[in-house]
Amino acid sequence: MDRIYLTFDDGPDPEWTPRVLDALDQAGVKATFFAIGQQAQRTPDLMRRIHASGHAVGNHTFSHRHPWFMSSRTARAQVRDGAKAISDVVGEAPQFYRPPHGRERACMSDEAHRCGEQVVLWNVSAIDWGPLGVADAIEKRLDTVKSGDIVLMHDGQNKHNRPDQLLQILPLFLGKLADRGLRASLLPS
Ligand SMILES: [Zn+2]
Repeated sequence: MDRIYLTFDDGPDPEWTPRVLDALDQAGVKATFFAIGQQAQRTPDLMRRIHASGHAVGNHTFSHRHPWFMSSRTARAQVRDGAKAISDVVGEAPQFYRPPHGRERACMSDEAHRCGEQVVLWNVSAIDWGPLGVADAIEKRLDTVKSGDIVLMHDGQNKHNRPDQLLQILPLFLGKLADRGLRASLLPS
């Protein structure tokens, strides 16, 4: 079966992450959660549930500041502190790093590499935020997913994300994957 890679950013979120986990468990698939460090500190039980369920946890910085609008010293600390917050809670260092807003910055990627993390972006976005983030449109975008795609979604509400809309179609999308010859898997390390 061909693989795809589902990723959920900006959590954990006490309201939405458990529902995403339920949907993944029900479908028997694994995903990668790019957690925000300070959220991880606020929701340690949820972090441990993600980890214990066999999903991967990636580093999405400590507080999701825009990579371009801070000093390089602060930017590096965002990556390092994010990694530490995650490993403190789940007992294992994250293997992957994703910059906030997908904005790569050399010093942050360098810091991620120092922490033993691989930088992972995406090639398909569900656009589950803002005015385009409505269930029907999210579903149409997800229906275009094909072998090898890395799919960006959000379990954390953060500011503009709409996990409520995503959740309306996520179980259906996951249920259809096998019929399409696709299996959602952990990112290759
Ligand atoms: Zn994000």
